[in-house]
Amino acid sequence: MNPNPDPIVIIGAGPAGMATALALHKVGQRPILLERYREARPAGNILNLWPPPIKALQEMGVDTVDLGAPCHTTFRGIKGNIRADVKIPRDVVDAYGGGFIGLLRPELYRRMLAAMPEGVLRTHVEVVGLDDHGDGVTVTLGDDSVIDAGVVVGADGIDSMVRGHLWGPSEKREHKLHIIGGYTFAAIPGVERNEVVLTHDRSVQGTYSSIRDNGRDGIQWWVLEAWDPAAEPPTDLRQHALSLARRFPGPLRALVQSTEPGHFQRWPIRDRKPLRQWSKGRITLAGDAAHATSPYAAYGAGMSIGDGYTLGQELAGIDLSDTAAVIAALTRYDERRIAHTTSQVQQAFVLGKVFHHAPAFLRPVRDFILDSTPMLQKQVGEKSPGEIVAQLDEMGAGLVTR
Ligand SMILES: Cc1cc2nc3c(=O)[nH]c(=O)nc-3n(C[C@H](O)[C@H](O)[C@H](O)COP(=O)(O)OP(=O)(O)OC[C@H]3O[C@@H](n4cnc5c(N)ncnc54)[C@H](O)[C@@H]3O)c2cc1C
Repeated sequence: MNPNPDPIVIIGAGPAGMATALALHKVGQRPILLERYREARPAGNILNLWPPPIKALQEMGVDTVDLGAPCHTTFRGIKGNIRADVKIPRDVVDAYGGGFIGLLRPELYRRMLAAMPEGVLRTHVEVVGLDDHGDGVTVTLGDDSVIDAGVVVGADGIDSMVRGHLWGPSEKREHKLHIIGGYTFAAIPGVERNEVVLTHDRSVQGTYSSIRDNGRDGIQWWVLEAWDPAAEPPTDLRQHALSLARRFPGPLRALVQSTEPGHFQRWPIRDRKPLRQWSKGRITLAGDAAHATSPYAAYGAGMSIGDGYTLGQELAGIDLSDTAAVIAALTRYDERRIAHTTSQVQQAFVLGKVFHHAPAFLRPVRDFILDSTPMLQKQVGEKSPGEIVAQLDEMGAGLVTR
């Protein structure tokens, strides 16, 4: 029985907001999830998920059976040589349906929405103002109506209004990179199944990965290069992606060629410098609002889902009329999430610099080191996946009502 009269309001129905709503409902709190658009819909297509978000989704009651293609990941040099083999323990692979699963975003949304209890999600509702008055938060909506909330979670993405409200304006950090990606269900010879094949030449990354989508096997791919954010985007994504894919061995070029026109997308890559604190009073942040991340981590959505799970654990059994208890719960949430997400955001930022912004004269030296020493193996093959897998223990026994 929930003793709190006011709901927990979550702003934004992306992976962070949906996960927070599901987790809070599971532990007996009363979430309301507000989305400004007419429906909760993904802003992109390609996606991979690590084991911790899969564990979190399962705990929230989301069906993860056959959600994606189980993949093993290698970083390779341009001659196909393995520079790093991403190590995920066998028992983890077995327990979570694969080390790194490849899927399409709409399927993740569909499954999370299918688990959403009736009445939690309210669409076409934009939040325009917040006032934390100590005993609660007044949430003002675009039509000037208000909702009284016990706690507010800003899961409103990289351009978060809530982050600005709590911590003031911050510049977006331009990585001066862009990524063009797509997917195909065509049968292409030479594709290594259930692998993420991530290859770098001197200045471009070209990658493909198996996916499952609605019971179908397919392949997603992307190319990533330096790009001035002030420059016009390429006019023809297929031709531009092909010009980059040609530089790589294997089936990348054929994958781009067989991609349907509507299945191409381009994103400039940017994040924001990580914050040292997310929560203030009764308001907190989750997902990209807290830790926008370069896709070099392939973990932004995964971390967003982890935030929601942790909020569920920390707010389980909390009486929202007890301000001190609310603040203590949100402080614990910050303590559990900030170090891990900051490390991943910064690593992704640095990888982008090393692979795409090294001065031309240093690139042969860099590549010699990456080809002939265990440096990359230690960082992206062991340290980073080790940190991510360690989250499985950090997450504890699950979402339980206190
Ligand atoms: C090319 C690319 C590849 C990526 N690949 C991966 C990957 O492989 N694995 C991975 O884990 N992550 C990946 N990511 C990162 C991932 O996409 C993001 O981290 C994730 O979508 C963030 O989710 P979110 O819920 O925080 O924000 P969003 O998905 O941005 O959702 C925010 C929501 O808030 C709503 N909203 C905003 N303001 C308001 C308001 N005032 N009122 C009401 N609603 C509001 C928006 O409409 C939106 O629906 C990738 C990102 C990119 C660009």
